[in-house]
Amino acid sequence: MDLTLTESEAAFRDEARDWFAKNHPGETPRGDEKVEFEFRRSWQKTLHDGGWAGLSWPAEFGGRGASLIEQTLFNEEMGAADAPLPANVLGLVMGGPVVIAHGDEAQKERYLEPILSAEEIWCQGFSEPESGSDLASLKTRAVKSDGGWKITGQKVWTTYAHEAKWCMLLARTDQDAPKHQGITYFLLDMDQAEVEVRPLRQITGEAEFNEIFLEEAFVPDENIVGEVGAGWSVAITTLMFERAGLGALAVVGLGRAYEELLKLIAERDVGSDPSVRERMAKLKIGLEAMRLGAMRTLTATMKTGIPGPEASLGKWEWAVLNQEMTDLATEILGVDGLKSDEEWTYRFLRSRANSIEGGTTEVLKNIVAERVLGLPRLR
Ligand SMILES: Cc1cc2nc3c(=O)[nH]c(=O)nc-3n(C[C@H](O)[C@H](O)[C@H](O)COP(=O)(O)OP(=O)(O)OC[C@H]3O[C@@H](n4cnc5c(N)ncnc54)[C@H](O)[C@@H]3O)c2cc1C
Repeated sequence: MDLTLTESEAAFRDEARDWFAKNHPGETPRGDEKVEFEFRRSWQKTLHDGGWAGLSWPAEFGGRGASLIEQTLFNEEMGAADAPLPANVLGLVMGGPVVIAHGDEAQKERYLEPILSAEEIWCQGFSEPESGSDLASLKTRAVKSDGGWKITGQKVWTTYAHEAKWCMLLARTDQDAPKHQGITYFLLDMDQAEVEVRPLRQITGEAEFNEIFLEEAFVPDENIVGEVGAGWSVAITTLMFERAGLGALAVVGLGRAYEELLKLIAERDVGSDPSVRERMAKLKIGLEAMRLGAMRTLTATMKTGIPGPEASLGKWEWAVLNQEMTDLATEILGVDGLKSDEEWTYRFLRSRANSIEGGTTEVLKNIVAERVLGLPRLR
C-alpha cells in the first residue's frame, strides 16, 4: 500500500476540486422527499455530463477508467465540497459494477449508460420478511414460462423501490437444489402491474424503503445475470460492492461530521470536559483506522476487480463510529436535540439503521472472523 500521490493523481485531485467549486448545486432542499430525490437526480446528470459519474468504470462503458485511488481522491473532494450524493447510489455502487463483472455484452450495452445518467434508478430486491441475514433461505420463486420467468413472492426494506426502474432481484428457480444453488439473479422491470410497491416509514419519518409484492411478475430470459441457478455468487459480488461502496463513501462523510462536531463542541463550550475529550480522541483514532483500512480494501480491489471480505470491516466500523458520533452530538445538544429540525437529531435517528443495512454488524463480525482472520466457522 503506497499512500503517496503521483503527479498525475495530484493533478486529478486538483481538477476535481476545481470542478466542484464551479459546479456545486447548492444546498439540498429538505422536507419533501420527491423534491430532494429529483434534486439529486439532476445533480447526478451534472456529474455525468462533467465525466465524473462511474469514475472507476472502464471508459468503454461510459466511465472514466479512473484508478480506485483517483476514485478515493474524488470522494474526498466531494466530501470537502459538501456536495450531495447522486440519486442512483445503488446503480452506481452495485448495479453497474455487477453488470460489468457478470453481465453479458448486451446487458452492458443496455443498462450501464442510463445508470450513469440517473435516467433509470436501480434498487436491490434481496431481503424478504423471513430472509435477511440468512439470505439464501429466500422463498420468492420464479417459474419458467414462455421466453422468461414468472416471479411470485415478497421483498422488504427495498431502498428506492418507489423510484426504481430496475431491481436486482434474487429468486429461487429450483426448489429441490441445495439452498445456495437454486437461486437466480434477475433484473426485474419494476414498471409492470404485477409489481406492487408499498412504502415503509422509518424512525426519521422518511419512507426511503418499501415492501415489494410480486404476483407472477415477468422477467425475460435475457434479464438473467450469470447462469440460471448460479445467482448466489453474483449476489455475493453485489454485497461486497455494497460494503466497499458504503465504506468508501463513509470515510468522507464521517470525516466531515467530525469537523462539524468539533464546531458544536466549541459553540457549546464543552471542549474542556474530560469525557468529551476522551470520546473525541477515540473517534479520531477510529476514523484514521477506518481511512487506512479503506485504502487497504482499495489496494486489494485493484488487484482482483472485486472487493474481498475485508470490505465488511469498513462497513462495520462506519456503523459503530457514526452511532457513537451522533450519540455524543445529541448528548451535547441536550434538550435542543428534541427540536424536529435539528440535523444532528436526524442523523442520530438515521444512524440506528447503519448497523442493520448492508449486513448487520453481528453478521459482518462473523465474516471478518471467518474469512479475513481465518478463525473456525461458527457452524
Ligand atoms: C435502511 C435500510 C435499508 C435497506 N435496504 C435494503 C435494500 O435496498 N435491499 C435489500 O434487499 N435489503 C435492504 N435492507 C435490509 C437489510 O439488508 C436487512 O435488514 C439485514 O440484512 C438484516 O436482515 P433482517 O432485518 O431480516 O434481520 P435478521 O437477519 O432477522 O437478524 C435479526 C438479528 O439477528 C442477528 N443475527 C442474524 N444472523 C446472525 C448470525 N449468523 N450470527 C449472529 N447474529 C445474527 C442480526 O445481527 C440481528 O441483530 C435494508 C435495511 C435497512 C435498515
